[in-house]
Amino acid sequence: MKKQLLTALISGAVVLGSYTSTAPIANAAGNGPEYQGHETINTQILHSYEEMMTYLEKQNQKQAHMDMEIIGETVKKREIPLVKYMSNPNNPTILYLAQQHGDEALTTEGMLDFIKSLGTGKMKGVLDGVNILMIPMYNADGAMADVDHELEDYAAKGPRHLTRHNANDVDLNRDHADRTQPETQALHENVLQQYDIDYMMDLHHQGAQWVKDGKYVSGAIFYPHPDYTDEDVLYQSKQLGSVIYNAIEPKGWGHLAKYAGKGSAYSPGIGVYGIANAYDISTFLFEMRGTADNANDFEVLGQKSNGYLTKQTVVAMEETARSIADRSILKEDISFWEDLPVQESILEE
Ligand SMILES: [Zn+2]
Repeated sequence: MKKQLLTALISGAVVLGSYTSTAPIANAAGNGPEYQGHETINTQILHSYEEMMTYLEKQNQKQAHMDMEIIGETVKKREIPLVKYMSNPNNPTILYLAQQHGDEALTTEGMLDFIKSLGTGKMKGVLDGVNILMIPMYNADGAMADVDHELEDYAAKGPRHLTRHNANDVDLNRDHADRTQPETQALHENVLQQYDIDYMMDLHHQGAQWVKDGKYVSGAIFYPHPDYTDEDVLYQSKQLGSVIYNAIEPKGWGHLAKYAGKGSAYSPGIGVYGIANAYDISTFLFEMRGTADNANDFEVLGQKSNGYLTKQTVVAMEETARSIADRSILKEDISFWEDLPVQESILEE
């Protein structure tokens, strides 16, 4: 698919959206609840690893087009499922990856909703035009906080904590170059090197302190590093971003900015950078607002926001799948990137 890109569209169009950032906003007008120690964080409403496996097995029995494969095991020997909808080898393929960081849980909740919707009339016909691969809970040990390092002062009062790193205290989203962990090896050896993947959306959460135009963002989006990504691959990543931006920004709850973070510091250990570089996959980073549990109050977002953030994941997945299936993604205009502000933190640096 990436080989068939319309090269005429590309010449001269690939510009890194240069944006002059204004000074950090000191007193952002917040919209939407924030945690800040004020609510009870109950993790019981999130799927545990076991509940997710039961859910997937049930959907697999119900849905004729769905398939499931175990691609490996976590450090603590949890099987890592890959959900597959491979309708036609000639179709373009997208991989959706959730919960590389174990405390970023609503992406998993959204992915489970999306999987269910693929078995209903709502997504009728979409699977004829696109192959879909999904890893709903990549870092299952972190998601269950079944780790060998201490977790102190975490916010959740529910039956379990959730934490960012894997059981060996490794940040899996910094391990894509060295591939020291069983989770990373499973993804690279049994997915990235086995399937002909065109697109990948890496679903995360970020701290709750980020704003655009004085309002908290619902999420931040970013493409792979322009200096280390093939021009066509990068262009298609930006088109994926365009689909997501146009689907989410008009929603009442939608407020997207360009990811700031350490985005300009290239490291092939970071999934969206390294995987685009190593496999020529058009990768895309989507960071939802706030995490499910953390020791830092500003990272956590109370569950009052769970509804729209889960919905945001579902919309992003549905609309990207549709646009790849009907090939409308190839006509997406990427110029919005030049005007999209980089998010700013309300915290003092
Ligand atoms: Zn993350």
